Amino acid sequence: MEDCLFCKIIAGEIPSNKLYEDELCYAFYDIDPQAPVHFLVVPKTHIKSADELTEENAGVVAHIFVVISKLSKELGLENGYRIVNNCGQDGGQTVGHLHFHVLAKRCLAWPPG
Ligand code: C5P
Repeated sequence: MEDCLFCKIIAGEIPSNKLYEDELCYAFYDIDPQAPVHFLVVPKTHIKSADELTEENAGVVAHIFVVISKLSKELGLENGYRIVNNCGQDGGQTVGHLHFHVLAKRCLAWPPG
């Protein structure tokens, strides 16, 4: 997807503070952190949003959750963390490439705003 910001980050065309990468996903620290630890995990395949998941492409989501669990241990997030996916305009999604926020190291309120 030529004009996708996160596709360009994955390709190294736009710099990012990379945390992890494998054949299926890419993780990097959010440029505008909302918690002491705030990173994003994105599939390398361009999927526009959670609303575009299908039986064929959704396997990467399970993989991303396993990666998040592993990264949480490496980063010492033993007190927990929050995984957030903003989907579509009303969901607050601003970048049209599926991504999961991981927020940690502060007490997070519920419900979200
Ligand atoms: O869920 P939403 O689409 O709003 O999240 C996009 C996230 O991507 C924001 O938290 C923003 O700070 C982050 N971002 C980034 N690096 C960029 C552009 C956006 O980490 N170059």
